[in-house]
Order: sequence, then C-alpha cells, then structure tokens
Amino acid sequence: MKVKVIGSGSMWTSYNSASYMIDDDILIDIPNGMCKNLFKLGVNPRVIKHVLITHFHGDHYFDIPFYFLLKSRSDNKDINVYCSKDGKKKNKTLLKLAFPHPAKEVNKAINLKYIFEPSFRINDYEVTKYLVDHGRMKPAYGYIFATKQAKIGFTGDTTICENVLYMASVCDYLFCDCMFIKSTDKHMGIDSIIYLSSKYPNCKFIVSHLEDDTREELKKQKIKNVIIPSDGLEITI
Ligand SMILES: [Zn+2]
Ligand SMILES: [Zn+2]
Repeated sequence: MKVKVIGSGSMWTSYNSASYMIDDDILIDIPNGMCKNLFKLGVNPRVIKHVLITHFHGDHYFDIPFYFLLKSRSDNKDINVYCSKDGKKKNKTLLKLAFPHPAKEVNKAINLKYIFEPSFRINDYEVTKYLVDHGRMKPAYGYIFATKQAKIGFTGDTTICENVLYMASVCDYLFCDCMFIKSTDKHMGIDSIIYLSSKYPNCKFIVSHLEDDTREELKKQKIKNVIIPSDGLEITI
C-alpha cells in the first residue's frame, strides 16, 4: 500500500486541507482545493475511482463538484463514494450550486454509486468504518484499511474517544487529527498524541490537520513514533 499525504494542514494554513491518496485510485476526503492539489502533485483526479468522506465539513468534501464534472468528461466514469447517508443529498446540492446548468448532464453521465455499509472491500483492502467524536458534527467516521500484512487507519476529525483508542491499538499506522496544541471537544491536540503514542508504541502516528503553531510545537517534541508530514509525503507500507 502507498499512502500519499495530499494535505496535512488545517484550513487556516498554507498547507493543503487534510486528505490522503491510497495507491492510485482511492481518496480519503476531498477537501477544498483537492483537485488542484492533485494536479500540482502530478496526479490527474480523473484516475480516482473511490472517495471516502469522513464527515461533511467543507474542508473534507467541497471539491466534489470539480471531481464529478471532470469524471463526467473522462473515459472512466466510475465513482464510488463511501460516506454517511446524508452525503448523497449534500453532494447533489453542492454540484448544483457549483455548476447549475451542467449538473443534470453530469449526474446522467457519471456512474455514481454510494456505499453506506459499515464495512466493505476496495481493491485488496477490507475497510471498516468507525464512529468518532467530532463534537456537534454527527456522524463523523474514521476508517481502517486491512491487508494480511498491516492495518492502516485514518481517524478523520475527532477528539480522543473509544474508537480512536481502538484504532491506535490495532493499527500499524494511524493518520490522525492533531489540529491544536491542546485537545478540544472536537479535535485532538498534542496532549492526545503524546498519550496515544506512549500507550501504543507499536503504532506509527502520522499527524495531520495541523495548525502552524501545533506543527512547530510537535517538531520540538521529537516523539519517536510520531511522523509530521509535509504535503506530498508518500509512505509505502
Ligand atoms: Zn470537521
Ligand atoms: Zn476538518
């Protein structure tokens, strides 16, 4: 498995919004600017077939219209979106807002499937979704991708909660929210990452959704099993 960190920052930084690409055709979240960011990294978003959305904040799904429009004009029009049930309507509304006139043609042209099940298979991966705690935003999900060799998790936006502890306990790599220096009821902070990384030393934590001061502070801490990525970092597992 190859995981490319497309975005490692929070909305209010010069880093891209938190998002990842797995191998060559799977995205975890499709935030504001995602299509442009993929192009800048040499990836044409038309090759993407699977989009997993952790939750419906704009910094996690607002590039859906650009992606749908591009797919409608590409040879391969297959799109699988994995999300909560309210996502179908939200994506449709967003497409109509972004491109009112072509929206109908785009909807007709693309081969769009929604998958709401708690677990599913993508390529060689068994994927399971886990409810996490992102304050008032409900539902918010994390995902674990399992192969015979390894488990790789993505927490999405969340404060520390039971399912985050579970994910850290079983994963070899966990891409996780660490927006702030101090945790809040919506996001994890460095205190949560210190706790998780010492409790689960076998897991490597790749922090994301970072504010700039959090990034600077984390660099000073030099925690053994914590990786602070820049946009574009690729990890082969
Ligand atoms: Zn959020
Ligand atoms: Zn967010």
